[in-house]
Amino acid sequence: MKLDIKNLTIEKAHGHLMSGEISSMDLVNAYKKSAEENNKEVNAFLELFDDIEVQAKRADEMIKNGEATILTGIPISLKDNILIEGKIASASSKILENYKATYDSSVVKKLKAQGAIILGRTNMDEFAMGSSTENSAFGRTKNPYDLTRVPGGSSGGAAASVAMDGVLCALGSDTGGSIRQPASFCGVVGLLPTYGTVSRSGLMAMGSSLDQIGPLTKTVRDAEILYKEISFHDTMDSTSVPDDKRFSRKHGAKKRIGVLRDMMEGDLPRQDGDKAGGIDAEVKANFEESLKKLEGLGYEIVNIEVPLLKYSLPIYYILMPAEASTNLSRFDGVRYGFMKEGKDGVDTYKQTRGAGFGKEVRRRILLGTYVLSHGYYDAYYNKSNALRSQLTKNFQTAFEDIDAIVTPTTPTPAFLAGEKSKDPLSMYLSDIFTVSANIAGIPALSVPSGVTNEGLPLGIQFMARHFDEETLFEIGKKFEDA
Ligand code: GLN
Repeated sequence: MKLDIKNLTIEKAHGHLMSGEISSMDLVNAYKKSAEENNKEVNAFLELFDDIEVQAKRADEMIKNGEATILTGIPISLKDNILIEGKIASASSKILENYKATYDSSVVKKLKAQGAIILGRTNMDEFAMGSSTENSAFGRTKNPYDLTRVPGGSSGGAAASVAMDGVLCALGSDTGGSIRQPASFCGVVGLLPTYGTVSRSGLMAMGSSLDQIGPLTKTVRDAEILYKEISFHDTMDSTSVPDDKRFSRKHGAKKRIGVLRDMMEGDLPRQDGDKAGGIDAEVKANFEESLKKLEGLGYEIVNIEVPLLKYSLPIYYILMPAEASTNLSRFDGVRYGFMKEGKDGVDTYKQTRGAGFGKEVRRRILLGTYVLSHGYYDAYYNKSNALRSQLTKNFQTAFEDIDAIVTPTTPTPAFLAGEKSKDPLSMYLSDIFTVSANIAGIPALSVPSGVTNEGLPLGIQFMARHFDEETLFEIGKKFEDA
């Protein structure tokens, strides 16, 4: 049969594999070819693996022996901060350029056991810090819809790898929007799972209390499939939630969705008094259209308030650098990777970290060290933590009357390469709608919602209460079909 990879989904491919119309080898070779061709321009992959055929052979064996699962033979890409034994995991940083992982992350163990085909590792912002995949030590990834634009970040390579049909699905990581924002910029679906539902064992830590691995796919149904396979209790991760503590009960019965009108009106806040320009007019119009669509599907749209939401970016940009500065202290030239010799021990640390880390990473280490330092700890770090629990309570209260909250995923469509890289604050603002879900630990889903006049993808975000991915999938699927 002729393979139409443009319109393939995990579900359809699985059907073809099971009926014997195609083999996993055919499927994987078709994607590999497309990945190789498109990668020349897009730079989504840092590496396409040399053992793809071995993996495909094994998958075909599994199918033949009746051992196949839904992921057997399905081509997937992994963000370069997820460990695969024996393969380089660089987090797109010079400091780990040649570092080979010594063990499989828990999600990779699961994928391998299922016979999924890991095609390659994808480009990202260094150590997952950024919103454009321009902060990579190995060149920027381009948006497949417009090569002059960014694919979003930090999982920009992951989103682009799916959008350019290099793979059927991808795993990225999301600390403040890094799955959903690039998904929105590249016209694919992205899910941030509830904190603690997907193991972080073998994911390089950025902000440990915020990080989650999650899927990027072409459809909501595919995100659901992948999420269900990678979500399990893992004793290797102390924050992994035991099965009996996951309240899998579906809440989405009220058929009521909350919208944050206050946040949608007026300009976005900016600490230096400058206006950030607010939400793009086409994004606003598309969002209003999406609300109409939801009403058409029988959902009542109600205005809600989450009073502390306006502090979510400041909370995030204190907690995340604090955690990252601690997590990144291990990269010192002694334990891992790159080393630049100095006059003495301390100088060697300085030289190594100065040359090994890029600018954004160094900025955040400085910021994080500052807010954790004696004398400032109470004023910044503890305040943010206190606000974090209040914001989480705000969300819980809001969810008493509604099934989900809806926002645009990002305030603008994909921006031009170079447009924001000189101005970190304006870059940080592209996470305005996404960071709060990580702060509260709730799940959030980005679904494509149309395109701009220029043909750039737009996305809509749904957030639900803890462990209520079901409601997100239900609303997402209906929205997608409408
Ligand atoms: N863009 C955000 C940041 O730079 C989010 C990154 C992420 O989710 N990994 O911190």
